[in-house]
Amino acid sequence: MSQKFAGVKGMNDLLPPQIATWQRVEATARALFACYGYQEIRTPIVEDTALFVRSVGEVTDIVKKEMYTFDDKGGRSITLRPEGTAPAARAYIEHGIANTEPVSRWFYLGPMFRYERMKTGRYRQFYQLGAEAYGSGDASMDVEVIALAWEFFRRLGVPDVVLHLNSLGDGSARPAYVEALKAHFAPLTASMSEDAKQTFERNPMRLLDSKEEGLADPIAKAPAILDFLDEASRKHFEEVQRLLAKLSIPWTLDRRLVRGLDYYTRTTFEFIYQPKSGDSALSTAGTVCGGGRYDGLVHELGGPEKPAVGFAMGLDRLVMLLEAGNAAQVAGPTLFIGTFDGPLREDAVARVMRLRNAGYHVDFDPRGGKLKRQIERAAKVGARYFTTWGEKEVQAGKLEFKALALPDDHPQKTTTVELAGLEAWLALNAPPGKAS
Ligand code: ATP
Ligand code: MG
Repeated sequence: MSQKFAGVKGMNDLLPPQIATWQRVEATARALFACYGYQEIRTPIVEDTALFVRSVGEVTDIVKKEMYTFDDKGGRSITLRPEGTAPAARAYIEHGIANTEPVSRWFYLGPMFRYERMKTGRYRQFYQLGAEAYGSGDASMDVEVIALAWEFFRRLGVPDVVLHLNSLGDGSARPAYVEALKAHFAPLTASMSEDAKQTFERNPMRLLDSKEEGLADPIAKAPAILDFLDEASRKHFEEVQRLLAKLSIPWTLDRRLVRGLDYYTRTTFEFIYQPKSGDSALSTAGTVCGGGRYDGLVHELGGPEKPAVGFAMGLDRLVMLLEAGNAAQVAGPTLFIGTFDGPLREDAVARVMRLRNAGYHVDFDPRGGKLKRQIERAAKVGARYFTTWGEKEVQAGKLEFKALALPDDHPQKTTTVELAGLEAWLALNAPPGKAS
């Protein structure tokens, strides 16, 4: 008698031809992470259950209801890893890495397991690519991991991901903030679910992460931790933002972003898929990457006082976005130059050609005419930046770049680029492969 089997619910087979996209993602990651000095680690699929309870936190969704936990034949409680940060920190401590190098940069890539309610982009076995940097609390490291994720998306051509950024401060901001949160949510406890009530009792900050419908409005109106930051954390956060601006990486301040793990300090961030064209089947892709600083984690797990920062990226969601064909959208020019009729137009056109010869994807509208129509054309062909080549600009030696994808009131909507430094700017901002 033969019997037919199906895969375990929520766990997918990855087969050709789809596997090609996975391989492209992985190859791109390996090449890019090497440039940033991140080396691969591979830890076991299972760990001691207590490791996750301790690091992820008892009051998180993961520990409360999502872990695959079982006793092995020796009676030890074992858990299929639900995330990669705790195992990495465990290995970092166990092997005394802090004694051998001041700063360690690691990445991992592999399956994670969470017993979740299945839907598109949410599985019980899913893949994460994660970066972990240990040993430095400097703002440059926060920005390094953000820039790494940002560049990764850019190389792959992932469309419409928006960087959300917040700071949780260090321990000193917590008590006052937690009191404020308690005061805010206390009147609502009567109408909360048992689950939310428990979260309120044990760790009110976690409530901000709750997906309970009735809490959406109170969460939106809750006090923001940014208003409670200590001086040092505030300075740190400002430095992070200055550095991001220098790299032309746009972000949105998200004052309620607290992230799912307990040990986050200071910077937290998420890259969220926000399609410009409104809703799509992919809107459940949601957060593609989440991360931040967790300066207390290594010590909390019995290691030395070592600050750390990192992220975890959901590859299933990433592949979903890439496969939707949206990737084609970003194949547009890096820069679109708007021209005016008259002698300057020839200079502009010649410059476009020269930049193309140098390996950059630059475009202009051969029909010339009204600037407004040229901008529309630039948006239509998917250009990332638009600039005008006019008398004023050329005389000043400065071009004003407009980031076409950003809303008008975004602080990074416009960037000034020195004419003399135009190629250097493109070298930094053009998708690789486009530049020679
Ligand atoms: P969510 O709020 O969507 O549950 P999370 O806070 O639990 O996310 P993290 O633990 O930060 O997610 O994991 C980092 C990334 O891993 C997520 O942003 C997502 O892209 C991916 N991820 C998390 N859980 C799943 C899952 N069950 N299936 C697929 N991808 C997942
Ligand atoms: Mg989750």
